[in-house]
Amino acid sequence: MTSTQAPSGRSTDPPYDPSLLETLRTMIRQVGEDPDREGLLETPRRMAAMYAELFEGSHLDPVEVLSVGFEEGHDEMVILKDIPFYSMCEHHFLPFHGEAHVGYLPDGRIVGLSKIARAVEIFARRPQVQERLTTQISECIEQVLNAKGVGVVIEAEHLCMTARGIRKPGSTMVTSSMRGHFREDDRTRQEFLSLIGY
Ligand code: ZN
Repeated sequence: MTSTQAPSGRSTDPPYDPSLLETLRTMIRQVGEDPDREGLLETPRRMAAMYAELFEGSHLDPVEVLSVGFEEGHDEMVILKDIPFYSMCEHHFLPFHGEAHVGYLPDGRIVGLSKIARAVEIFARRPQVQERLTTQISECIEQVLNAKGVGVVIEAEHLCMTARGIRKPGSTMVTSSMRGHFREDDRTRQEFLSLIGY
């Protein structure tokens, strides 16, 4: 018995382009499998829903999230460390994941820490490269909060590096982006790096 009908979406699935289901069935066939085999029947639907979730950041605006900051007259460094994130390497569509550390030097205006974590998540849930992810987070915080300086350090493991290709499990990549005082002032940068444990 064969099924020619593409599996239909579930109400709990995030929205996706329904034509993706046929594309994914074709892909399953092209890698040498039978999309009508029982275990694979629901796979196109699951994958479509998964991509919609993992790429939801493409349709969301981190500026909006950070714009709810408030004036507090605070001018000491604020740090949020160990923000876990999952992103997708745009070269292989395989996950890279790890932790982001964000620090900034406010010019009076601050924002709730959960908003920073949410902004990281929005940038992460796009087809990405780690370098760009790091820079986008620091630029966005600098601009929206009008911060005097921003530092972002990201440490991540890339499945395209550890599960395939050069296969180096456990190896991580570290990227950083320093702006304003974090770039120009050694002491500010050192304070940030030592507070996040580097
Ligand atoms: Zn990759």
